[in-house]
Amino acid sequence: MRKSHFHGVANVSSEEQSKIVGKTVEVEGLRKSGDTFPLSLSVSTWVSKRGRIFCGILRDISLRVEAAKKITEQNKQLQLISVTDPLTGAFNRRQFDLVGDEVFARSSEGAKPYTILMLDIDHFKVINDIYGHALGDKAIIETVSVIKQTIRQQDSLFRLGGEEFAIILPETSLISSKKLAERIRISIEKIEIPTDLGNIKYTISIGVAAFSPKDESITATLKNADEALYRAKSLGRNRVE
Ligand code: GH3
Ligand code: MG
Ligand code: MG
Repeated sequence: MRKSHFHGVANVSSEEQSKIVGKTVEVEGLRKSGDTFPLSLSVSTWVSKRGRIFCGILRDISLRVEAAKKITEQNKQLQLISVTDPLTGAFNRRQFDLVGDEVFARSSEGAKPYTILMLDIDHFKVINDIYGHALGDKAIIETVSVIKQTIRQQDSLFRLGGEEFAIILPETSLISSKKLAERIRISIEKIEIPTDLGNIKYTISIGVAAFSPKDESITATLKNADEALYRAKSLGRNRVE
């Protein structure tokens, strides 16, 4: 910055009303070691008997800048934690409401309809009863990992409760959503979790519902998906409705 600095000094001395006077600007400082660091510079000026005097105050603001960076980073992390389920890394119910409201608004304003998948692991109580809660947790984690590998980048997966999940598919037809649901159903069926008592195998039931202009909010579509899930359960489980 040296060249522009000398230029700047010349400017300040020649102008009646310099742009920099009275302001604090951030500039880059250079240490003897060759490292650079953030500096704040404020210039003031006054007229004395000897003529115009300029005074520049330089402050090393590295600590302040470092602290601000840390806070921004921490805020980002806290924001992510507040919308994430700690067991699986899937989004939580709070994020479902946020994403849901956004997607609902877009479809209401004329974007292609979104769809919601509601998923619930079949007879999960039995897994807990036979293999214990820790292996039950492992099945939940594995389920999320398999679903994440199956959905597209624009889709989001939410853990709504114990072994219950929802997926929001923006701008997706009911037919494609059912195909995706079927792919998820099949990949869950293939999971095998090895234990001392043999491999854990389980299935999942999925209900699908699409946005309808009659829906008053994302909750209405979720309710329809939940009803479809209930149908899948009563029609024998391990199926898409
Ligand atoms: P269904 O096919 O009708 O869904 O049968 P289900 O046994 O899965 O029934 P339900 O949904 O009522 O039971 C869910 C069970 O999941 C109850 C609870 O013990 C267990 N569960 C809930 N949250 C967790 C969790 O975080 N970890 C583990 N290991 N189990 C959980
Ligand atoms: Mg269940
Ligand atoms: Mg359940």
